[in-house]
Amino acid sequence: MTYIIGEPCVDILDRGCVDVCPVDCIYEAEEHNMLLINPEECIDCAACEPVCPVTAIFAEEDVPQGDNWDKYSDLNYTYFDQSRES
Ligand code: SF4
Ligand code: SF4
Repeated sequence: MTYIIGEPCVDILDRGCVDVCPVDCIYEAEEHNMLLINPEECIDCAACEPVCPVTAIFAEEDVPQGDNWDKYSDLNYTYFDQSRES
């Protein structure tokens, strides 16, 4: 399990989540103009979710339905050379 950052973060990236993450697993993805969570490093502590001002962060199992969210769920994995199945 991991937490996922979705499309609402794009162009916001205020880094509030980075400040509270105890394992520093949230990284700036410059080419996507957003931040992404490394699924292998995330410890599912949930600290980041409530601090996001635009509700961009969800537990993977709670990510809203829809292609746009699905695309970003994939991106949180592929950006770090991981697959959602692993
Ligand atoms: S759930 Fe915890 S470990 Fe995972 S990204 Fe958020 S703050 Fe970091
Ligand atoms: S707190 Fe939300 S908007 Fe801010 S950088 Fe993190 S995911 Fe993006």
